[in-house]
Amino acid sequence: MNERLRTYRAKRDFGRTREPEGRNGSGGPAPRFVVQIHDASTMHFDFRLQVGDVLKSWSVPKGPSDVPKDKRLAVPTEDHPLEYEEFEGVIPADEYGGGTVIVWDHGTYEPLSHDRQGRPVDFAESLERGHATFRLHGAKLRGQYALTRFREDDWLLVKTAEGRKRGHGTPNPRRARSVMSGRTLAQVAAEGEG
Ligand code: MN
Repeated sequence: MNERLRTYRAKRDFGRTREPEGRNGSGGPAPRFVVQIHDASTMHFDFRLQVGDVLKSWSVPKGPSDVPKDKRLAVPTEDHPLEYEEFEGVIPADEYGGGTVIVWDHGTYEPLSHDRQGRPVDFAESLERGHATFRLHGAKLRGQYALTRFREDDWLLVKTAEGRKRGHGTPNPRRARSVMSGRTLAQVAAEGEG
């Protein structure tokens, strides 16, 4: 078992939630990212980047914006298993994170972190230091983004100026559709795992 998932497992009762336990690693050549919309006690987006054998995770209350310079608060949460990228469904109300989850976008990303001299640096190390840049190749999110720590446990997720200047902003989470199934949160809530 992956020790980095200790916190993730401790919070969940896998007899009750269908979220993955994180038994299997997986891995293609390019690291993955996923953005989920999570209608829990408060509606939020979850932004996750594969780093090694886990998904590093942030809760983004307003969701990522594709408008360059829009700053979006991103609060770190526990590492999730790689299989979580595919998780869409209903977490029982009395369980941790109880509510409905859809996979809003996913794909691969290119690590772009570099030092002040422009030399590439290890991506995991750049996150530990509090500033990482990457290019997303998703169905919805594309282009260069940065995650930057500005207080102990608060980060900003920003699209850095590149490409289209006019994005769509942030989707309305209640109208947004799953990139996997085309369903809205309400449809997933009604249909369950479908
Ligand atoms: Mn969440």
